[in-house]
Amino acid sequence: MKEFSLEGRSALITGGGRGLGKAMGLVFAEAGCDVALVSRTSSEVKSAAKEIEAIGKRSIPLVADVTEKQQVDEAILEATEAFGKIDILVNNAGIGLGGAAVSEMPGGTDSVLGLNTQRILTPEIWDNLIRTNLTSAFYCCQAVGPQMMERKYGKIINILSSNAARAYPLTGPYNAAKAGLRMFTKVLALEWAPYNINVNAIGPGAIRTEMTKHRHDDPEIREKLLDIIPLRKFTTARHVGLLALYLASPASDWMTGQDIYFDGGETAMVD
Ligand code: NDP
Repeated sequence: MKEFSLEGRSALITGGGRGLGKAMGLVFAEAGCDVALVSRTSSEVKSAAKEIEAIGKRSIPLVADVTEKQQVDEAILEATEAFGKIDILVNNAGIGLGGAAVSEMPGGTDSVLGLNTQRILTPEIWDNLIRTNLTSAFYCCQAVGPQMMERKYGKIINILSSNAARAYPLTGPYNAAKAGLRMFTKVLALEWAPYNINVNAIGPGAIRTEMTKHRHDDPEIREKLLDIIPLRKFTTARHVGLLALYLASPASDWMTGQDIYFDGGETAMVD
């Protein structure tokens, strides 16, 4: 299956210390890739890097806040110097806090996503969600783009959410950021197609991670989540890694500008 091999490739994954980012890193390493992992928590990127090294590939843990352009530039420079190049960029770092736009919603304390109906969004919450979930991807793409253009090779994978395609109450800035990242994926795919750079996106549904475990571990919310998933079952972070492997590998060389929803059918009724 050489079309799925990442042998000789190197990747940088933001939010690679835990959850979906770490799972993608492990799958990439199993496919032969060296992987740089970026997050703000040193202990998590270090421990994830050790797990990748145990597979037999090189890994570098990088501590950076992806909402800070200078820190992004420095992290990408360090990874490029260590590996000689970055072939694959995964913009995965994200946060999921929500709130009501103007005033609290009636009807209890939790929506289907387990969000607080009493919390009102502030400009600070709005800015932080947009900067973390959207602006960071622009910073990373701008920093890694020139070397990919020069080599005429690159794979960029943006991690959206089913929320990029489907509205839920109390998720204004999160949904706006993910929908914005979806459209940025398409724009960049067109701008960078002449350089043989593929830009695609994955929109995961509800997957148990540090970000979402409070929902999955609450039997009532878990049931509500299953009610919006036609397949009525959950998947694992590793399976997001397997889909990301397709988008990172030569198997997807003819695919660009696409968003793939990996959500048990949650967004199937959305065109
Ligand atoms: P986790 O909370 O487990 O992981 C998020 C990662 O992002 C952590 O490594 C975190 O590290 C990093 N991160 C957050 N903010 C920053 C920052 N400012 N700078 C650098 N790193 C940052 O969440 P998931 O693995 O679940 O989420 C990964 C992505 O998948 C997110 O974009 C999320 O929106 C998306 N997603 C997840 C779904 C799910 O059900 N799990 C569903 C749909 C989408 P640290 O805090 O140490 O910096």
